[in-house]
Amino acid sequence: MATIKENLALIQSNLPIHVTLVAVSKTHPVEVVEETYNAGQRIFGENRVQELVPKFEQMPKDIQWHLIGTLQRNKVKYIAPFVSLIHSVDQIDLLKEINKEAAKNNRVIECLIQVYIATEESKHGFSFDEAESLFKSDFRMLFPHVKIKGLMGMASFTSDVQQVKKEFLSLKDFKAKIESENSLDLPILSMGMSGDYALAIECGSNMVRVGSSIFGSRSYNQ
Ligand SMILES: *Cc1c(COP(=O)(O)O)cnc(C)c1O
Repeated sequence: MATIKENLALIQSNLPIHVTLVAVSKTHPVEVVEETYNAGQRIFGENRVQELVPKFEQMPKDIQWHLIGTLQRNKVKYIAPFVSLIHSVDQIDLLKEINKEAAKNNRVIECLIQVYIATEESKHGFSFDEAESLFKSDFRMLFPHVKIKGLMGMASFTSDVQQVKKEFLSLKDFKAKIESENSLDLPILSMGMSGDYALAIECGSNMVRVGSSIFGSRSYNQ
């Protein structure tokens, strides 16, 4: 079996230089994160606050921790002191809470707006219309301790490549439209996981969230 270091090297060698790799270490113990860190990786993604906080505490402080999963408002306070990017902002109330906790910590927290592009109801995110209203609003005045850096989307879990491609392209096109209509720069487009990151990059992604291709399959599914 390939080692984590080999998996990382293989993936990195396939990524264009403008694409950032987020190593999704959820469900894996801190020893595994350490091994990945020692192989040179510095950006890690977790989808649960209760897993992210202890890993942050135990690992070196030059890691950038990304929260990629659904975030409950009452948990924002635990990650506000250190989180470097929240990919999964899926409602205005969450943005409000992040702004509040960021202010308490004297920080500006970088966030992505998660947009719902899939066909499955289990997935979260703003609809295109809701996201459009947000970007048309005075969000920079309303949330001065949040910096919206871009968009995140998750495609449907399907083997239908054309469907997945259509969903990824819909987010890329939406980002371009929002940027031109509001004279905004949204530098990050977070799309693509182990199964679909190559396609996501073809469709404009510049940040991929990869777990099982680095770490092997998870013992329980999240
Ligand atoms: C688990 C997860 C990933 C990584 O999934 P893999 O298929 O293991 O690469 C990416 N994004 C989110 C939001 C996740 O929850």
